[in-house]
Amino acid sequence: MKHIAIIGNGISGVTAARHIRKLSDHKITLISAETEHFFSRTALMYVYMGHMKPEHIKPYEDHFWAKNRIDLKMGFVSNVDASNKKLLFDSGEEMHFDDLIIASGSKPNKFGWKGQDLDGVQGLYSWQDLELMEENSVNCDRAVIVGGGLIGIEMAEMFLSRGIKVTFLVREKRFWGSVLPKEEGELVSRHILSHHVDLRFETELDEIIPDENGRVKAIRTKDGEEIMCQFVGLTAGVGPNTSFLKDGSVALNRGVLVNDFLETNIPNVYSIGDCAEFHQHPTGRRNMEQVWYTGKMMGETVAQTICGNKTAYKPGVWFNSAKFFDIEYQTYGWVWAEPKENEAILYWEHTDGKKCLKLVYDMTDNSFLAANVFGIRLRHKVLDYWIKHKTKIKVVLQNLEDANFEPEFYENSFPEIKKQFQSQIP
Ligand SMILES: Cc1cc2nc3c(=O)[nH]c(=O)nc-3n(C[C@H](O)[C@H](O)[C@H](O)COP(=O)(O)OP(=O)(O)OC[C@H]3O[C@@H](n4cnc5c(N)ncnc54)[C@H](O)[C@@H]3O)c2cc1C
Repeated sequence: MKHIAIIGNGISGVTAARHIRKLSDHKITLISAETEHFFSRTALMYVYMGHMKPEHIKPYEDHFWAKNRIDLKMGFVSNVDASNKKLLFDSGEEMHFDDLIIASGSKPNKFGWKGQDLDGVQGLYSWQDLELMEENSVNCDRAVIVGGGLIGIEMAEMFLSRGIKVTFLVREKRFWGSVLPKEEGELVSRHILSHHVDLRFETELDEIIPDENGRVKAIRTKDGEEIMCQFVGLTAGVGPNTSFLKDGSVALNRGVLVNDFLETNIPNVYSIGDCAEFHQHPTGRRNMEQVWYTGKMMGETVAQTICGNKTAYKPGVWFNSAKFFDIEYQTYGWVWAEPKENEAILYWEHTDGKKCLKLVYDMTDNSFLAANVFGIRLRHKVLDYWIKHKTKIKVVLQNLEDANFEPEFYENSFPEIKKQFQSQIP
């Protein structure tokens, strides 16, 4: 029986632990410096908004861990002594391991802005961030959010739910411009504006200005405008949480470097989830993918290898989903912000401006490549199959209704979408 230590009890570490338990009798220790029990990070906003209580975002009952013989250890690992197979905790404790999984996740980016460490300035990532946000919301009249991505928009929704005014600074010309194509970016931007957010494009933070007590009182933009505020949310992306590994022998780039088997440079040491960085991604996508599903798939894969069935990570077709206020978003395959030379686009938008569907296909062989959808739910299995099997775009259009996952009695836009797409195909 081996002792498997896992640093991080997020979706990646927890999935690995659960699957190792399914496959073996190994001793498993799940370590976290954040909370004793696993919670759904993606649901943090609902606790703030009062839709859920903290216990509602714990996917497993507290007795689950003992029942499944997964030991929980609260503590911060300050270093990994790989040659002696030991973890060193900041409390001075040590822990021996046979196999180690590093699943230490991310932390919010800070780009050295003047004033970034003032009181009232923070990101949103951890449980402690949520608690701090709760404190910082008291007597807050206006919040300024810096960085137009998924966490920024969640923060905006959280503040608006409490009647706190929001100014949103976005460096790009449109919302989430590095990811969303023009039409989708504009749809989201309109939606944000309709929620009375003061949304500023091509506007960058220059400095955060303190009051006499070292608390934020305003920000200054690079155009020299001062905006009074009591809170600044730093949501300009996240980076791998790996600083505790800096003095050790585990090879790092931005994240922990891994091969296709999620192995690091040290035998029996693996890395998964947000903090893992491929030397070369198995499908040629970005070498780091900081999303929930990636962590889950990596956790399942590494469990196989650790339990004797060496398995390469094969993520399949890219999928992600999110929500912009009340508009749901799903993406399948890779829809680039700017289409590639070989790509043709079919685009439909509802007259209400809140729903759209984009299909991308390859003009050289007419195979279906990717889709973006806002405000309509598509059936994951169908889209995944079409992309994986390079289905011809005409076949996709003929069978488009198979992808409809809207509840019964919802408006069915598919006949109209199909008609419009057919007219767009040369
Ligand atoms: C507000 C918010 C909304 C999000 N929404 C979405 C979404 O809609 N869809 C989506 O796909 N993704 C979303 N994400 C991203 C998603 O939550 C992450 O990709 C995912 O949680 C990463 O999981 P992980 O297990 O790799 O790491 P984490 O969940 O970050 O877990 C790592 C854990 O390791 C602990 N740890 C780190 N270092 C140490 C150490 N040295 N010692 C001990 N413990 C340590 C950390 O404290 C943390 O608890 C969202 C993230 C946030 C913050």
